[in-house]
Amino acid sequence: MRITDVETIVLRAKLKTPSKSAMGSTDAMTQVLIKVETSEGIEGYGETWTNFPSWAYVERQATIQDGIKPLLIGRDVEDHVSLIHDIFRRLTRPMSQWGARAMLYQALSGVDQAVWDIRGKSAKLPVCSLLGGAPKSIPVYASGLGPDSVVSDAEKLLERGFRAFKLRMGMDLETDLQNVIHLRRVIGDECDLMIDANQNWSLSEVWKVLEVLEEQAVYWIEEPVPSLDFEALQKIKAKTNIRIACGENYYGTDFTAALKAGVIDIVQPDVTKCGGITEMNSISQMSRYLSRDWAPHFFGGAVGMAASLQILGWVPNSLIMEYPYDDMPLRTDILATKFDVVNGKVRMPDLPGLGIELDQEALNFYRIN
Ligand SMILES: [Mg+2]
Repeated sequence: MRITDVETIVLRAKLKTPSKSAMGSTDAMTQVLIKVETSEGIEGYGETWTNFPSWAYVERQATIQDGIKPLLIGRDVEDHVSLIHDIFRRLTRPMSQWGARAMLYQALSGVDQAVWDIRGKSAKLPVCSLLGGAPKSIPVYASGLGPDSVVSDAEKLLERGFRAFKLRMGMDLETDLQNVIHLRRVIGDECDLMIDANQNWSLSEVWKVLEVLEEQAVYWIEEPVPSLDFEALQKIKAKTNIRIACGENYYGTDFTAALKAGVIDIVQPDVTKCGGITEMNSISQMSRYLSRDWAPHFFGGAVGMAASLQILGWVPNSLIMEYPYDDMPLRTDILATKFDVVNGKVRMPDLPGLGIELDQEALNFYRIN
């Protein structure tokens, strides 16, 4: 089955409430989906990360249409891993000259998901089953809390069945500390509480918050400092028993370097960034060999969530999946059947490929290209 066309679909939707984090505030989400068509009429979809900065979708369309598409046309989807490897070989050097190493991984993430989607649809099996797993219920944590209305949001999320919560920090220290104390009070001792500083603290700021984080029994600290600053991460690890989580901003050898340096306890690749399902599969195995836990990062749309669920349906050492809880339309409206959280878990759909059906009318509604 040969690839006959590759299309980039740019979607944009307003957020009901602006999203605030250490990266800034945003009131809309723009996403790029990659649609791959084949000689047998089977189509596959994949999602590539373009959340930041707001103009990332411009670069991504060009990278996919001008750089990757010519290398994909005519290739056999069954020769999947070679196909991805060949594109890496052809484009790694020119894109490194541009300083665009991460963008290549992100673009190929979408291509890889689309090819897995096609292979699953062709075999009439969910991707996780092709990999040797099976559709199941996946434990998730509510992501996106803070810095505003933490208490009322957490109360609603408990009612929706969430049992693990991640708080955004790394903005204002006083607010951060109040939020973590209030959140623990609302969710009680039975629920897990994680925090994410989005690489925004200095070491001296970490020392100011660490005691409170320990008192509030924080389950993991995510990206307290820049995630490639292994020396700073080592110093934090030496001072606390709270586990350190990083990975959403690692690409390729960054994972091996961080694991070799022993600076992370929980590995967090993102299927829309790290190179896709094929690459995540390798990262999860590496984490397992080194006895590290594995909890994928995810903050994208419906297709990326479907791809994340498929890999969690396969990987044996999966801890939990990130589940952004807001009503972002590109995560909900473009799906013919929605994902529901029941008792802190999402049931994977038992459909072939990535396991989702896209609502083409909704897709056209949000499309801007
Ligand atoms: Mg994060």
